[in-house]
Amino acid sequence: MTITDNTEAVMLLLEPEEPPAFEIVNARGGGSAVLVCDHASNRVPRQLGSLGLNPAQLAEHIGWDPGAADVARRLAVHLDAPLVLSGYSRLIIDCNRQLGRADSIPQQSAGVPVPGNCGLASKEKELRRKVLFEPYHRAIGNLLASRANRPTLLLSIHSFTPVLAGIARPWHLGISNGRDRRLAALLLSVLVHDVEIVVGDNQPYPIDASVDYTLPVHAEARGLLNVMIELRQDGIATTAGAAVWAERLARAYRRIETEALNG
Ligand SMILES: [Zn+2]
Repeated sequence: MTITDNTEAVMLLLEPEEPPAFEIVNARGGGSAVLVCDHASNRVPRQLGSLGLNPAQLAEHIGWDPGAADVARRLAVHLDAPLVLSGYSRLIIDCNRQLGRADSIPQQSAGVPVPGNCGLASKEKELRRKVLFEPYHRAIGNLLASRANRPTLLLSIHSFTPVLAGIARPWHLGISNGRDRRLAALLLSVLVHDVEIVVGDNQPYPIDASVDYTLPVHAEARGLLNVMIELRQDGIATTAGAAVWAERLARAYRRIETEALNG
């Protein structure tokens, strides 16, 4: 079967009352920032059950970026920024991975086997791509196209685990760049002066165009300044924590905004 009609494809994966592949908040936001949150949700389409995982596993980082959507929504308010959030778990198809990679539809994640992703036929992978991955990215593309004549800086909001493979990660947040370092360098120049926090420079993850999808495809290809912001999950686990971090990021952004737009 070749899936050609998107409505038909949606019906094959999502039930009518299930949410769409993406959500746009504040689409007409007048600020210069556009926010994206690739790993906003750990929702799994009902038809896929639990992918063979238990609820605790789905609630962990392998399923999504806990806290990232909360920070992103608050930051969207502070900066009057449009925000695009993915609607489903990264385990169904990772919206920030190049298609065809093993970690696009992972058969294991952080050592946890994902039974529901094993032995998939190519048409099942195609369905996930058409119903979840492509609509999310079309939404980002259309939003950026609608702002083609306005200065835009693209910020991607993620979160990371406090401990990886038994090793504690010292950074409270990480600022990562791809080919163009200008926006990351500006944000770092402000954040490093905050004595209360430890900032990672391209830590815990750099952006790699052969791995990452969102910023290379949407920002670099359009020549937009961009940055990936990674927040450590213990700092944003509560609404109070998310609020503090959103305010901190908004302050830093406002301080460098003019220079970034002129740069
Ligand atoms: Zn993420």
